[in-house]
Amino acid sequence: MMVTPVADESLAVQVATSDVDTGTTLYKLRATDKLASAAIQEGRQRSATFASLVEIVERSDTLVYVVSVHKLPHDMVGCLVHEGQGSGVRYLKVLVLMGMRSERMIVVLAHELQHVREVLDAGISNSQSAMGELFSRIGVPQLGTVTGEQFETKSAHEVMALVARELRTHRRVRQP
Ligand SMILES: [Zn+2]
Repeated sequence: MMVTPVADESLAVQVATSDVDTGTTLYKLRATDKLASAAIQEGRQRSATFASLVEIVERSDTLVYVVSVHKLPHDMVGCLVHEGQGSGVRYLKVLVLMGMRSERMIVVLAHELQHVREVLDAGISNSQSAMGELFSRIGVPQLGTVTGEQFETKSAHEVMALVARELRTHRRVRQP
């Protein structure tokens, strides 16, 4: 069968459409800057695990803001903070350190999104003290961990390994 110019055109249109699709608007997970936004979009495209964590947030009743920051205390590269106490609006904030390679940033983001999932699963996203209690219960107190957090969960580490493996399997096809 001959490939007609029309077929080429429709192919071009398809590519353009899929580009739009991969940039599907997120309603609950909100990047506050370009760096965070790029990491989220690339993570969704290249890692099924990352994409499923994003889906969990999207299906929840909690807003999760992702902010890239210049500096974090205690040598952390990412952390989850609770915001909006008493405002009636549930929201969590994930902070990720700038200046990491994009793949590292995606892995760290996945780690924090797993913590978001743990908070959502426990149904306590509207309370800072309950969040503290949760992680002291399900987490292991640590210093000098990969993210430098006070408490660490086994699942968050498993997610990091999984996403890192998926990123190696699904190489970036084009520069963002
Ligand atoms: Zn952690």
